[in-house]
This record gives sequence, C-alpha cells and structure tokens, in this order.
Amino acid sequence: MPNLTDKTALVTGASRGIGRAIAERLAREGALVAVHYGTGGEAAGQVVDGIRAAGGRAFAVQAELGPADGVDTLFESLEAQLEEHTGSTRLDILVNNAGLMGTALPGEITGEWFDRMMAVNAKAPLFVVQRALSLIPDHGRIINISSGLTRFAAPEQVTYAMTKGALEQITLHLARHLGERRITVNTVAPGSTDNGSALFQIPAARAAMSQLSAFGEVAEPAAIADVVAFLASADARWITGSFVDTSGGTLLG
Ligand code: NAP
Repeated sequence: MPNLTDKTALVTGASRGIGRAIAERLAREGALVAVHYGTGGEAAGQVVDGIRAAGGRAFAVQAELGPADGVDTLFESLEAQLEEHTGSTRLDILVNNAGLMGTALPGEITGEWFDRMMAVNAKAPLFVVQRALSLIPDHGRIINISSGLTRFAAPEQVTYAMTKGALEQITLHLARHLGERRITVNTVAPGSTDNGSALFQIPAARAAMSQLSAFGEVAEPAAIADVVAFLASADARWITGSFVDTSGGTLLG
C-alpha cells in the first residue's frame, strides 16, 4: 500500500541521479512530487512524464541555486503549482538533494570555487529550509542528502566534504528547533552511487569506487531512495537528528 498518499514533496536536483530516484520513489508512494532542476529542463520533463505514465503525480520546478534570488524563484514556482494541484501550499516533505560534486587537492582550491560549492551545497539548503518552514505542517519531514565523505579522509574532497559537514549542521540544529512540531530532520549519507555520469562507465574508476563498499559495488540510486522513502514515512516518526549511513559499509573502513 502506498504510504504517502495525499502528501506533497519537493526534491531538489531531481532531474537526474539520486534525486530522480527519490522523486520517482516518493511518487510511487502516492506523494505529489515537485521535481526541481537547475539547467536540465528536458531531463526534468522526462522525470515528470515517467512519474505520470506510472500513475503518479508530479510537476517540474526550475531554479538555479546559488545566486541570491534562487530560493525565491524556486518557491514562487513551487507555491503556485502546489496551489494549482492541491488548492494549498502545504509541503509535507522536503528533500535537500541538489548538490555540486568536485575535487581539488588542498593546494589547488580557489576562493571562487570554494564559495560556489558552499553556496550550492550548504547555503542554499539552509535558506530552502527557512523558506519552506511556513509551508511544512506539523509531522512534516526534512531530509538532507550529505555524503559518507564527512566521515573519512579524502584530501582531494576537502572542499566538498566541508560543504556537506555544514549541511549536516542543519540536521542537528533544526531537528531540535522543530521537534516541538514533530517535524523530523535527518541526514542521509550515500557512498559512491551510480548517478549515470560518464565516470561510472570507466571500468577502472568504477572498480576503485566499488571496492570502497563492504558489498564491493557502487550503489544504485534506488537504494538511497528507498531509505529516503522510509524516513519520509510515518514509520520513521521517532527518528530525528540522525545521520543515516547509506554508504554500503564504506564507513567500516
Ligand atoms: P547529479 O547526478 O550530479 O545531479 C545533481 C542534481 O542537482 C541535478 O538534478 C542538478 O540539476 C542539481 N543541481 C546541481 N547544482 C545545482 C544548482 N546550482 N542549482 C540547481 N540545481 C542544481 O548528482 P547525484 O550524484 O545524483 O547526487 C545527488 C546528491 O547526492 C548530491 O547532493 C551529492 O552531493 C550527493 N551524493 C552523491 C554521491 C554519488 O556518488 N553520486 C555520493 C554521495 C553523496 P540540473 O542538472 O538540472 O542543473
């Protein structure tokens, strides 16, 4: 039985990869899903079409996160379309998934790149949460997609890991702040997950990423989406402020 019937959800960065799988999974559970994208309008349209073809409900929302007006653009479109589909702007589930990945050794990091990574991966989610708070009802859900990289050393990932460490602070502090309203806030931390990018087609790169996991494989996005769907469900009502390791045992070392 679908367990998110009559719920509404926003998944940022849902035009591809993990976000796409989360959007599809939440829609399968009955939620009306806002499929957010930055530049991939065509891809987001395909996600929405696929959800609808499978009997689900979804619409696309465009906004570039990072620039100062990005969050306003996102919510203007989101609120208008929620109103159109449901007659209200209620948002039950927020998944902060959109993120930039990238590597630079400590000696190669530029201030400009650091600022952009922080703006997209940490600052934007905080202000998305801030803006969403008036739309999220009691018993709502906020799920932040971090990375296992906040728990093990990889020098070329220091900037990315810093942005995700900052994102995880939203979980910690907002979980306390919103506990009274029974809104749960949790972090989901994947390891290497095949997001469809060219990197995962390179045998040597795929093998290197696979051996990090206790299972000897990279994850499929659906494996992460299943955990997010659980955290979004009523069954997860007593989990808040958690770091949920979805790295397939990568953190075992
Ligand atoms: P992905 O395939 O690169 O997709 C990223 C998504 O985020 C796209 O939908 C993209 O939208 C959106 N996005 C990125 N920057 C944006 C911006 N400035 N404004 C608006 N939208 C933006 O990513 P993924 O691999 O699925 O990863 C999803 C999340 O999981 C990320 O937060 C990532 O850090 C985290 N993660 C991934 C892995 C992994 O191995 N894949 C591991 C651990 C954690 P457009 O393409 O439409 O612009």
